[in-house]
Amino acid sequence: MAQDALNIFLNKPKADVHNHFHLGGSKQRFLALYNPPNFVFPSKYEGLPGMIDFIYQDLNRYLRTEQDVINFMRISIESSIDDNITYLEASVDINLARFFGGSIQRVIEETKNLVEEFKDRIDFRPEIGVNKDLDLDTAYNHTQACFDSGVFHSIDLYGAEANQDLYPFVNLYKEAARNGLKTKVHIGEFSDAQSISEAIEILNPDEIQHGISAIDDNDVIDMILERDIRLNICPESNIMLGRIQNLKAHPVRALFDKGVNITINTDDLILFHKTNSQQLQELHDLGIFSLEELDSIRSNGFNQ
Ligand SMILES: [Zn+2]
Repeated sequence: MAQDALNIFLNKPKADVHNHFHLGGSKQRFLALYNPPNFVFPSKYEGLPGMIDFIYQDLNRYLRTEQDVINFMRISIESSIDDNITYLEASVDINLARFFGGSIQRVIEETKNLVEEFKDRIDFRPEIGVNKDLDLDTAYNHTQACFDSGVFHSIDLYGAEANQDLYPFVNLYKEAARNGLKTKVHIGEFSDAQSISEAIEILNPDEIQHGISAIDDNDVIDMILERDIRLNICPESNIMLGRIQNLKAHPVRALFDKGVNITINTDDLILFHKTNSQQLQELHDLGIFSLEELDSIRSNGFNQ
């Protein structure tokens, strides 16, 4: 009986709202597509630098041309569908334009093609993905083209978190909000609680990607609650990057108990390998959440 209830829950449609689009393909789909010889997926990364080493030294050997970008994005959307994700907010890194001769219009066009091609199977809402390392002129120009296209639903900013100057992005976020886009920012995965309150003050985001360090400071929790900011959490990513030792030690339950609005997401399936369903099941099997609680968390992802 309990098993039936679990299966019924796991078969429900799910949302994924913290997903870096071209890194969202499953290991199986990637291997089937490229059949890379002697390719080893690490079981753990030495923090963000270790993950970036793997991307540059291993994964990017198969991500070289514009067709590869399209392939990576395609297996990503197919992998979401494999897991019965019916609502997907995935960030399209604007620096992917470098694979298209610098043309952001080509990136937008291919993104739009995928929305159209899969529209009967998944509600895919593309997100503008901006890495803080990108030079600011390019970031503003590409982002403006994305706003103008009408293809994008939200914006996200990522890259190194600690000691980063977020002020150069204030106008970008104001412009995003003026264009009716939902705003997200990566903060508080590796950086501390204080950095979260600063990011909130400076960028006024609707949602935070990760934000798990908020658990260390009740004032930051209060700020998140007052502004009704959702935290889009990716437990397996946090574990594989060594930020959290294991699922039992993850603050996801503590954040939930504080009343924070949370979701569970994949981050980068091609790096971390656990689908939303697998993560939800583990949270259930370890007794961290009841099925009813998990169902409320699942539902949260559909709130746009
Ligand atoms: Zn992320």
